[in-house]
Order: sequence, then structure tokens, then C-alpha cells
Amino acid sequence: MDNAILYAPWRNDYVAGEKIEGCVFCHISSSAGNDEELHVLYRDEHCFVVMNRYPYTPGHFMIIPHHHTDALEALDPQTWLHISVLAQKGVRMLKEGFGVHGVNLGMNLGKAGGAGIAEHIHLHLVPRWERDTNFITSIAHTRVYSTDFEKIYRRLKELSKEYF
Ligand SMILES: [Zn+2]
Repeated sequence: MDNAILYAPWRNDYVAGEKIEGCVFCHISSSAGNDEELHVLYRDEHCFVVMNRYPYTPGHFMIIPHHHTDALEALDPQTWLHISVLAQKGVRMLKEGFGVHGVNLGMNLGKAGGAGIAEHIHLHLVPRWERDTNFITSIAHTRVYSTDFEKIYRRLKELSKEYF
């Protein structure tokens, strides 16, 4: 078992699709009409929840404030609390609806902290299953097939209506 993998599973960060200029998270934030295409699971006035395009495990998603900042410590405390509330809902959804055995929850702050998109903070929720380490090692450098990705998105989108 490679614990380094277990404790930092969100290295493959969200990577911008082609033709998105500027901050990809601000792009998603302001594209409410395109939620299906952008794989958004949920949005409200403070935050949105979106699938990670390069998931570490199937069902990997992120909770992201609309407010563009790279400084967690400067985030409006109300927004931070809201992210926490959504994290609880997300964990419940993964456990009850998606059959996970565990979840890795975390933020990479700054490039040095491993963030793929450092300019706009985001909280990762990475589903885990018993004995999935071999699986994760094997897919760590491989993209999940897009058909599977779409299927998982549709499943989580359905669950999101119930849990968020
Ligand atoms: Zn942004």
C-alpha cells in the first residue's frame, strides 16, 4: 500500500477544456445554462458542485465557491461554512447513494500545495472503496473513458437532486 497515494489522491486536478479563456471555474460559475455539458451536479447562490474531468476515482467531484480567490483564509466565513455544509451532503450522497466505503476530502492550496488550478480554491471529494488501491494505481495515469464518465455523471446528477 502506498499511503502517499491515499493521502494525496487529488493530484490530477480539473484541467480546462479547450477554448476556455481565463479561470475555468469562473467560466463554469457563469455558465448556468450549460450545466449538463460542463458536468455540474448542483449550484446555488454561493457555490457550485462539478465533476472532475480527470477523476482519481469514478465519481470524483469538487465543491467550488463562485467567488474567485486563491486565498482560503480570505474567503467570506459564511461561504466557507456553506462549503462545509455541501461537503456533508456530498459525503452522504456518496455513502448512501453511490456505495462508497470511504471518501478523501481535501484542498490543495497554491501551486506548491499541488493545485492544478491554484487561482480559484476548490474542495475535492474523492470516492474510495475497500481494496481500491491497486485500481487507483492502475488508473492514476489514465483517463477514465468518457462513456463511463458520462454514465457516472448522470447517476450523480440524479442523486444530487435528492441530496443537495
Ligand atoms: Zn475563478
